[in-house]
Amino acid sequence: MSVLPVILWFRRDLRLADHPALHAAAAAATSTGAPLLPIFIWEPSLFDGPRTSRNRTWYLRESLRELSEALRARGSMLLELHGPARDALSELVAALRVTHSDEPSAVQIFMTRDHTPFARTRDRDVAAALAPLNVTLHAKRGQVVVEPEELLTGAGTPYGVFTPYYRRWSDVVDARGEMPLAAPATLPPAPHVAPLRVVDQAALDVASRPTATTTLLAAPGERAARAAADAWFKRGSALTEYSARRDSLADVEGTSHLSAALHLGLISSNELVSRIVSGRGAGGAASDGASNWVRQLAWRDFYAQVLWHAPHAARAAWRPAYDAVRWDKNPEGFAAWCEGRTGYPVVDAAMRQLMQSGFMHNRARMITASFLTKDLLIDWRMGEAHFLRHLVDGDIAANNGGWQWAASTGTDAQPYFRIFNPVKQSERFDPAGAYVRRWVPELAALSNAAIHEPWAHPLELARVGVVLGRDYPEPIVDHAAARQRTLTAYAAAVRRGPVDESGR
Ligand code: FAD
Repeated sequence: MSVLPVILWFRRDLRLADHPALHAAAAAATSTGAPLLPIFIWEPSLFDGPRTSRNRTWYLRESLRELSEALRARGSMLLELHGPARDALSELVAALRVTHSDEPSAVQIFMTRDHTPFARTRDRDVAAALAPLNVTLHAKRGQVVVEPEELLTGAGTPYGVFTPYYRRWSDVVDARGEMPLAAPATLPPAPHVAPLRVVDQAALDVASRPTATTTLLAAPGERAARAAADAWFKRGSALTEYSARRDSLADVEGTSHLSAALHLGLISSNELVSRIVSGRGAGGAASDGASNWVRQLAWRDFYAQVLWHAPHAARAAWRPAYDAVRWDKNPEGFAAWCEGRTGYPVVDAAMRQLMQSGFMHNRARMITASFLTKDLLIDWRMGEAHFLRHLVDGDIAANNGGWQWAASTGTDAQPYFRIFNPVKQSERFDPAGAYVRRWVPELAALSNAAIHEPWAHPLELARVGVVLGRDYPEPIVDHAAARQRTLTAYAAAVRRGPVDESGR
C-alpha cells in the first residue's frame, strides 16, 4: 500500500514559478515518499453566475490547459474536479481513503491563500467539511506581496488611507530581500485516482466562448504572462516613462497589461516587485517611473486588505454614510452607458473598448465609473457588476476598490464633490482624439477640437456629415446640471445617513 498522496489545490495561482504552496507540497511529498496530486476545482461560480465573465472563463480555461501541460512535462498531472469545493474535496479524500485503507495519517492539502469574501467563506466551509476526515490544510502566501494582516496602523486598526499604508508596505518589501522561488524542474509522480465528478465540457464550451474579440484578449497561460513581464521590463523606457505615459488613453504601451495575469496568479506580484527592488532583470528599475509602477502593485494589495478587514464593502459602501445616497434607477441611462452610446465620446470609447477587448484603460475606468455614478447617479454596484461580467482582469477587490473610489463611497481621501468632467478628461488624456477615433469610428473624421464634445461644433458636424441622433447619440445628460443634482443627492445622504466617515 502506497503512502497517501499530498494534494496541491490550485486556485488563483496557476503558475509553477514563485509558488510557495507548490514548493511546500512537493517537499512534503518527497520527504515521505508520497505522490503529489495537483488539482483544480471548477466551482459553479467560475462559469455560471451573475458576475461571471465568459472572457474570464475563457482565459482561465486556456491557462489551465497550459498549466496541465507544464505539470505533465515535470512528471505530474492536473486533476480537474467539479462542484462546490467542499463536496469535491470531501469526495476526493473519501476516494483516497478507500484506496489507502490501512494508511491512518492525515491527508495534507496545500493551497495559496485567497482573501476575497467568497474565498474565505469557501475555505471555512471546506475546513469544516474536512475536519472529521482527518485532513490538514496548509494555506501559504503567494497571492499578494504583503498579507492583509501584516500591516496595521500604530493603533492596531486596518489602513483606510493608501499613502500611509504604502509607506509601511514599502518598508516591509525593502526589508524582506527574499528571492522568488524558481519553478521546480521535476515533481513527485501523481497517483492514479478513480474517476470523480468532472465538469461538463459542453457546458464549459458555452461558458468560455468569449463575448469580446478573442484576438484582443490578453494571451492566457504562465508562459505568455512571463513573456509579457519580460518584454515590459526589457523595454527600459517602459518603467522610466511610466509616470508620463500611464494616463495617456491612446498609449497602448504606456502600461504593462499584466492585470489579468496577476488576477489569475499566472505570475506573482512578489516576483515582479522583487525584480524591481533588486534591480534584477528590470531596465530602469531605479527610476521614479519604476517606483510608481510598484506603487500600483501596492494598490492591488491595499484593496485586497480593505476587503479583508471590511468584507461588508463587497456589497455596501465602505463608508456607511453613503449607503443613504438615493440612486436613480434609470434603466435607459444604464443601457446607454453599457453599450457605449451616452453621447460623450470618451465614455463611449471606453465602454466599447471593454465590450470588444475585455479590457479598459485605467484612466478610462475612472472616467466611466465617475460618469455612471456622478453624471447618471446610478448605483456603483450596477457598474461594478457590469465590469465583472466583461473584464478579463475582473478582480473582486481591485474592481470594488476602484468603483468605491470613483463613487466616493470608499477609501479615497477626497470628498464626494470631486466629479470628473468627461470633456475635460478627454481633452487632457486623449488630446489628439486617437482613443476616441479607434473605438468610436463614426466620429473619426472630426477635428481634434470637435471630437471631445461634438454637440458644441455644429458646423464641424455638418462638414463631415455626422448627424447627432442619427449617426451618433446626443449627450444623454447635461454634465453641469447632472453635477449639481449629484452634489445635492450626496449632501442629503450625508445628512440622513449614519455619520461615520471612517469605514467600518
Ligand atoms: P499597470 O499600470 O501596468 O499596473 C500594474 C498592475 O498594478 C496592474 O496590472 C494591476 O494589477 C495593479 N494595479 C494598477 N492600478 C491599480 C489600482 N488602481 N487598483 C488595484 N490594482 C492596480 N484592476 C484589476 O486588476 N481588476 C479589476 O477588476 C479592476 N477594476 C477597476 C475598476 C475601476 C472602476 C477602476 C478605477 C480601476 C480598476 N482596476 C482594476 C485597476 C486598474 O484599472 C487596472 O489594474 C489597470 O488598468 C490594469 O492595467 P495594467 O495591467 O496595464 O496596469
